[in-house]
Amino acid sequence: MSISVSGVSKYFGSQKALNEVSFEIPSGQVVGFLGPNGAGKSTMMKIITGYLPASEGITSVCNLPVEGNDLEVRKKVGYLPEHNPLYLDMYVAEYLNFVAGLYKLNNRKERIEEIIDVTGLTPERHKKIGALSKGFRQRVGIAQALLPDPEVLILDEPTTGLDPNQIVEVRNLISNLGKEKTILLSTHIMQEVRAICERVIIINNGLIVADRSASDLEKGLQNGKTRVFVEYDKKVAPETINAISGVEAVSISGNGWLVTTSSGVDIRPALFKLAIDNDLILLTMNQEHESLEEVFQSLTK
Ligand code: ADP
Ligand code: MG
Repeated sequence: MSISVSGVSKYFGSQKALNEVSFEIPSGQVVGFLGPNGAGKSTMMKIITGYLPASEGITSVCNLPVEGNDLEVRKKVGYLPEHNPLYLDMYVAEYLNFVAGLYKLNNRKERIEEIIDVTGLTPERHKKIGALSKGFRQRVGIAQALLPDPEVLILDEPTTGLDPNQIVEVRNLISNLGKEKTILLSTHIMQEVRAICERVIIINNGLIVADRSASDLEKGLQNGKTRVFVEYDKKVAPETINAISGVEAVSISGNGWLVTTSSGVDIRPALFKLAIDNDLILLTMNQEHESLEEVFQSLTK
């Protein structure tokens, strides 16, 4: 396992910021760590990277317990903190050289050139970090995380505060890195998860409330409710639609109906038959799953 978290709790005074959190991430997986502000995402990430001790539980990275092995772990884990602390007066290459020195890297020069290229920093390399746009500063943050060629990348809200173009660029960069590395990336943006993550862990109030593939999440949770939007050429009485077995609720939008059904029931054949029986023309029929946004909201309310 690249990352293994087992029964981890964290107290700040009497506040329990993490409540017996457990999950495992195999090598090469790209996982979205989702949750509202204050859920415990950054705290969990600081524990995985060895910057903060857990109150209870065990965390391992590449099968190495984090506790007692901070220095070893830091070579295996690249970390982009939430408030990426950069030396604004340093030039890009100078800063990366400084970080490479901390890691005591061999072939420092080549490694820095390689990383500057990978992260798309070439056009900005001779600027001071303070002169860079937020998007390029994030790239510098990702570059420093990549320097020791870690197996695991922990990225805490890598796209927060970027403009839409920068978001796409940084996401593409992360997607590319995900081809080779294990990545745990925190965000509260659903689209981000849809765009780059194969798996989603949702945390709320320090508790894991969901852990599954992004596509499974989108198919709807436990109850697996689905909705069918159906539009006929004429008005239909709500009772007529409600009479179909499996229908839970209907709502009207214009001449169309949004029909909610309980798990497992496919009511589309019945909606089609309803048209025939009542001499209606079926104009539209579209089955919708709960969107990731809705799933997230219902889990973290
Ligand atoms: P997230 O990253 O999901 O927004 P955090 O992990 O930063 O959440 O915070 C989780 C909870 O722990 C919050 O209620 C936060 O106020 C609290 N917390 C985080 N760090 C500290 C700290 N150093 N001291 C006290 N409380 C903290
Ligand atoms: Mg945070």
